[in-house]
Amino acid sequence: MAHKIASSAYGLTEEQLSIRDAIDQLCKPFDDEYWRKGDRERSYPTEMVDALYEEGWMSMLIPSEYGGGGASISDAAVVLEQLERNGCHAGAVRAGMYTMGSILRHGSEEQKNRFLPQIADGTLRLQSFGVTEPDAGSDTTRIRTFAVREGDKYIVNGSKIFTSRVQHSDMILLLTRTTNREDAAKPSAGMTTFLVDLNEAQEKGWIVANPIRTMVNHETNELTITNLEVPVENRIGEEGEGFKVILSGMNAERILATSEYIGQGMHLLGRAAQYANEREVFGRPIGMNQGIQFPIAQAYAELEAASLMRWRAADMYAAGDNPRFEVNGAKLLASQALWNAANAAFDTFGGYAVAEEYGIERHFREAKLPSIAPVSNNVVLAGIAHGTLGLPKSF
Ligand SMILES: Cc1cc2nc3c(=O)[nH]c(=O)nc-3n(C[C@H](O)[C@H](O)[C@H](O)COP(=O)(O)OP(=O)(O)OC[C@H]3O[C@@H](n4cnc5c(N)ncnc54)[C@H](O)[C@@H]3O)c2cc1C
Repeated sequence: MAHKIASSAYGLTEEQLSIRDAIDQLCKPFDDEYWRKGDRERSYPTEMVDALYEEGWMSMLIPSEYGGGGASISDAAVVLEQLERNGCHAGAVRAGMYTMGSILRHGSEEQKNRFLPQIADGTLRLQSFGVTEPDAGSDTTRIRTFAVREGDKYIVNGSKIFTSRVQHSDMILLLTRTTNREDAAKPSAGMTTFLVDLNEAQEKGWIVANPIRTMVNHETNELTITNLEVPVENRIGEEGEGFKVILSGMNAERILATSEYIGQGMHLLGRAAQYANEREVFGRPIGMNQGIQFPIAQAYAELEAASLMRWRAADMYAAGDNPRFEVNGAKLLASQALWNAANAAFDTFGGYAVAEEYGIERHFREAKLPSIAPVSNNVVLAGIAHGTLGLPKSF
């Protein structure tokens, strides 16, 4: 196991410090070789995900009245950061932790009682959400997947792209249009969200998933949706209000994603610092050269700054605020700091960075994704410019 950069304990409770220890223990079997093999075979980290379910971390955000852990978003952030600090790939589990929030915030009491206890005990996995479409991209209001009500069910047709973990989820949260964009009161109106039984939908051929091979081991798919039947009782929130249902989950998603980026960046800097101390060239450790030291130090400062922004966002979220700027700003800064950390590690390892055995090239590939998904940094910058600074809208 590589040297770990000391973790800042800023703002963490005793309980959160013990969460870190528990995750360190959980991660022990999932070493570099585990991830290298998974990456090579593009396999799902079933063992790690199962361990997280078994120990109750996947249901920690579900209130205890529904069988979950009733933990805070900060507790969950600690879990995801620590997984990444240990070199694990937390992207496989993030959605499985927070997607249920849509049911919690917008579902009826009947829906909460029907779904949340089963999600909490791991018998029903809700790890998938389908928002992105080929012709809409970052402009979600232009999705075309359409749901038509017929009596006590909706019939859905359309397509989705980059829909992740479909093969490892029992349910999917699906965003559709129920009114054409042109006929809606505003572009974000006229959308409706459903909870869809993926097993039934795939068995009956209503949803066909075609895996997309990507540069990282992140299982994702193109979905073709044909005459999918969804009972009305599986509509989450009111008809036409689906965009709000999805949007309300984004603050949690951004805080959790940011935490992963910080953890991954710290893991890479730990690896880089250790290697820079050990590797000798020109008769001295390469870490004596400021050309090696400074990028590592710079990225460390950036990650710590992003971490502070993340905790501020998490505190505001916990207080019931809508910290749109803080969550997006934290995601922007953390994704950039991670990319800088990955570059610093890559340069430190020199030629060995590209050798699969050292694990740096895998993290390097993974470190690029956060600038585009779950939201691209350009869209984040536009949101800050328009929404926070009052600059003219560019779209
Ligand atoms: C591995 C992976 C997993 C994913 N998993 C999921 C998932 O599970 N569910 C899901 O719904 N989605 C998922 N996504 C989709 C992801 O959220 C989108 O890729 C992302 O939102 C960007 O959309 P796009 O790829 O269509 O890019 P586009 O919207 O086509 O944008 C392309 C480029 O143009 C830039 N751009 C576009 N418009 C503007 C503008 N107005 N100003 C400045 N720049 C602009 C963007 O920043 C980007 O750099 C996943 C994506 C990936 C790669």
